[in-house]
Amino acid sequence: MNPFSEKNRRFIQKNLIKWFVQNQRDLPWRKTYDPYQVWISEIMLQQTQIKTALPYFDRWMRAFPDIRSVADAHEDKVLKLWEGLGYYSRARNLQKAAKMIMEKYEGRFPDQFEEILDLSGIGRYSAGAITSIGFNQNWPVVDGNVIRVLARLSGFTENTRLPKNVKRFWGWAEQLIPKGQARFFNQGMMELGALVCAPKNPKCNDCPLQKICVANRKGIAENLPNRGESQAKISIRVTCAVIRHKGKIFIQKRPNKGLMGGLWEFPGGKTKQGETDQRAIHREIKEELGVTIKNVKKISRIKHGYTKFDVDLHCFSADLDDGKIRLTAATEGKWVSQKSLKKFAFPAADRKLIENLSAKPNK
Ligand code: SF4
Repeated sequence: MNPFSEKNRRFIQKNLIKWFVQNQRDLPWRKTYDPYQVWISEIMLQQTQIKTALPYFDRWMRAFPDIRSVADAHEDKVLKLWEGLGYYSRARNLQKAAKMIMEKYEGRFPDQFEEILDLSGIGRYSAGAITSIGFNQNWPVVDGNVIRVLARLSGFTENTRLPKNVKRFWGWAEQLIPKGQARFFNQGMMELGALVCAPKNPKCNDCPLQKICVANRKGIAENLPNRGESQAKISIRVTCAVIRHKGKIFIQKRPNKGLMGGLWEFPGGKTKQGETDQRAIHREIKEELGVTIKNVKKISRIKHGYTKFDVDLHCFSADLDDGKIRLTAATEGKWVSQKSLKKFAFPAADRKLIENLSAKPNK
């Protein structure tokens, strides 16, 4: 089933590209379409809005102007430049991919879809974006914006998250590309979804595709796409401790695999059902570091919403009491000055705690 007739396909191709050329935002990677820059921008833009990603992109390009500089950097520097963007495996995979490009392609970004798909952290979407935007090859891209535009244009009312329907969107996106113009066409789809065909209040009267849009004709644009039932976010109660000893504070590095992988944190963990936060922090520190703490005082409570869950973080200050640190939950531990905490990459909730600490005089 293809909801787009040949005539409508031609209409979409012609009008979307014309609209994109006139209305595209002035973005740094659009100046040269250097595949390295396109790659970094696409990875940053997954789960992140353009206005948030732009300063990160600028800082990244200043620190790492080419693939070699990413490959040669210390991982902590890569993660620090990513701090705040979330999904930190993206940053670690970028570095792995940069090393692969140095080894296999002598630093030249590969231009074949399958070679790009083989790089760490690259899936079908990113490979399609890099080949089409960076190299102007006829590969489709399907992200949330593209699904919204296509679902509305075609009046598609089924659940767009079902794998069989995701497959359909990939097929439609591929058939719509005008040969030799994938760079502008794919960006046009995504840009239209971002600027005009927005999730709420789509600006249908400004839309170059209004004439053939089924959802607009039926007055159901805001009801589409149908994304099925969305899952409620879970809330997690967690404790952590700022442990001091001889004027320094203890921090530890999370394992690379898993949530917030490779970031630094204050030790602690989830409060168990029926457990007080005080008990939880003593237990967690014993389990994670093999030491006991004393002078334990509550210093703040931080609530932070991550993409998939909310955290309710209860923070304590404490002094090291007894024992020698043996890490069980981290790959590395350090005693650092309060001032130098800002040099390390932390999850957002821990960064808020560091700001709170900075607002108070050092002990
Ligand atoms: Fe989206 Fe409205 Fe354009 Fe249809 S007419 S594609 S709903 S902005």
